[in-house]
Amino acid sequence: RIIMGIESSCDETGVGLVRLHDDGTVELLADEVASSVEQHARFGGVVPEVASRAHLEAMVPTTERAFEKAGLALSDVDAIAVTAGPGLAGALLVGVSAAKAYATALDVPLYGVNHLAGHIAVDTLQHGPLPAPCLALLVSGGHTQLLRVDDIASGITELGSTVDDAAGEAYDKVARVLGLPYPGGPPIDKAAKNGDPAAIAFPRGMTGPRDAKNDFSFSGLKTSVARWVEGATRRGEEIPVDDVAASFQEAVADVLTMKAVRAAKEQGIGTIVISGGVAANSRLSSLAAERCAAAGIELRVPRPRLCTDNGAMIAALGAHVVAAKLPTTPLDFSANPALPVNVVSLS
Ligand code: ATP
Ligand code: MG
Ligand code: FE
Repeated sequence: RIIMGIESSCDETGVGLVRLHDDGTVELLADEVASSVEQHARFGGVVPEVASRAHLEAMVPTTERAFEKAGLALSDVDAIAVTAGPGLAGALLVGVSAAKAYATALDVPLYGVNHLAGHIAVDTLQHGPLPAPCLALLVSGGHTQLLRVDDIASGITELGSTVDDAAGEAYDKVARVLGLPYPGGPPIDKAAKNGDPAAIAFPRGMTGPRDAKNDFSFSGLKTSVARWVEGATRRGEEIPVDDVAASFQEAVADVLTMKAVRAAKEQGIGTIVISGGVAANSRLSSLAAERCAAAGIELRVPRPRLCTDNGAMIAALGAHVVAAKLPTTPLDFSANPALPVNVVSLS
């Protein structure tokens, strides 16, 4: 069966096509993404109205490109999955409207699914079915959560989350302080490669004895980096951008991996999946690999292209929802900007 996935929760218009095989494996056929990120760069963050308009313009051409790449026709589609939330209301609406139109015209079932679960499900395209249970460390532009995944189609439980900024948000804000472009993850990752991660001892948030074990906090770290840079500037010193980037990145990777490994051990879970845009970070995956190996835990990280927003992740999740024979979503559903992670598909 062919599943089409549509993503439009933020600034990426994504259309993915996958094949669900009878044995439950999911094969990637096409993954086309159009990003409006350059239109937002000068604002240092996504401008919702600009993103919505860009989705509207990109939706049909991106869909056409996906079918062209896969060598398929619209009539080959057996089911459609679309991001129902969480995300920007106006942006989500474009994808949801397109999905409803395609599902009606093609007379195929429609599934409104969760963007965050999609970030996890995408890993099955690269590494095969997820073992159950597994522990997901979801680190993206808007979310940072530790999740227990008993079933990707219906069994996600939140163990903890950030109490303030998301990890990706911290990257974007620190990049701004350092004069690096938006989005900040990739340029910080690159600068950090030439820096000393031990140059500056930035704080590790939420790691005190009385702090919630599975929660995160990155706003103190962000402020600490900003203060450090202000201080150096005031003293007329040149900012060692590479060292600040490396030290900041080390603090983020240290806390994320420490908490993920500890939670997996406590839950008796043998596999950790890191997902979301920040999973593309090179230090996060190398430190996670080190610590998982030491703890005897299997680590799965999708390739960077699959970590950031795309349509294939929604198609992959849709395929798992179809395979689980879950109910379809009635055509009159609305997007939910605040859809909680435990609601994997709407019914
Ligand atoms: P959400 O999934 O929570 O709705 P989002 O979809 O906007 O948010 P993603 O596209 O999953 O977020 O991830 C984008 C974030 O990932 C940005 O904050 C970006 O800076 C960060 N990011 C991308 N590449 C890297 C990298 N190599 N290192 C660190 N962060 C990165
Ligand atoms: Mg994005
Ligand atoms: Fe995302």
